[in-house]
Amino acid sequence: MPADLPIRTLDWAAYRIPTDAPEADGTFAWAATTMVVVHARAGGETGLGWTYGAAVAGHLIDEVLTSVACGRSALDVPAVYHAMHRAVRNLGRPGVAATAISAVDVALWDLKARLLGVRLARLLGAVRETVPVYGSGGFTSYDDRQLANQLGGWVKEQGIPRVKIKIGESWGHAVERDLARVAQARQVVGDAAELFVDANGGYPRKTAVRVADRMADHGVSWFEEPVSSDDLDGLRLVRDATAADVAAGEYGWDLPYFQRLVTAVDCVQVDVTRCGGITEWQRIAALAAAHNLDVSGHCAPHVHLDAALATPNLRHLEWFHDHVRIESMLFDGAGDAAGGVLRPDRDAPGNGLTFKEADASRYRI
Ligand SMILES: [Mg+2]
Repeated sequence: MPADLPIRTLDWAAYRIPTDAPEADGTFAWAATTMVVVHARAGGETGLGWTYGAAVAGHLIDEVLTSVACGRSALDVPAVYHAMHRAVRNLGRPGVAATAISAVDVALWDLKARLLGVRLARLLGAVRETVPVYGSGGFTSYDDRQLANQLGGWVKEQGIPRVKIKIGESWGHAVERDLARVAQARQVVGDAAELFVDANGGYPRKTAVRVADRMADHGVSWFEEPVSSDDLDGLRLVRDATAADVAAGEYGWDLPYFQRLVTAVDCVQVDVTRCGGITEWQRIAALAAAHNLDVSGHCAPHVHLDAALATPNLRHLEWFHDHVRIESMLFDGAGDAAGGVLRPDRDAPGNGLTFKEADASRYRI
């Protein structure tokens, strides 16, 4: 292999994929999901990355990141990452810039693994053979039948022993319906499955504590964003008042944010498609480990899989209905979560995925 393998091109395309039914949580509703897919090329190989965000992230790749990345060695991914990080200083790194950097970083790690002919997890250094997942959906927009079908499918048909539903409906103004849905969820999944909830920051602090008290009867063991993840004191208050694990982190765009967050939660959620890719995931996981905390991957399960295989303090990945549907539809090599774990092919190069461009073309924007 030549010592120098310069990155030749970064190409991107954006796709807008309608949901299979209206989806909503406590503080947001959506009818489609946009993904920005990146292909990075060097040495005759192509790496695949993506983020869920807005197409403007792709334009930012063209305008800013391509000239930073191309010409640098595809073997030195952290060097490219830090160069990209510096290049967006004046644009503001959180948000769109972070999603663009994340998608490129993910593509570059895949590219390097393919150049070396190894599974990405082995390049990173695997510490496990399989990755636990939890079924995630249970949207507030679902009726009782939709909720029962989805949760029953995960637990009874696929054998996934942990599921999560959305609560905090209408910015925390529908507590009785939230609690009725929690009760229904417990009844559907039975006593053996773990039951998680996500309020997406919908409740005021003391409402969240009262909801946590009432959910204890239903064995809820994970309370995600009970209050806004900007309210670290509020997260601490709820964490200290309830037996359920309080989790947050899906809007973490950089390492300094997580340095603050680790003082406020029981489990740190990290989104590789937002936080700065696999390079930053590894640093955040180390930070969490230093605080005796696990990390959990937020959404986009196939982006997280190889990084999760290489993370000692990994708790689980989110088998998020919307993204599972998209990734199963548009990637050859997508996994299934039978038994509640992903078990990747360790001999497949890179992330083991191929983007099905022809199938995706109808969604291109
Ligand atoms: Mg969430």
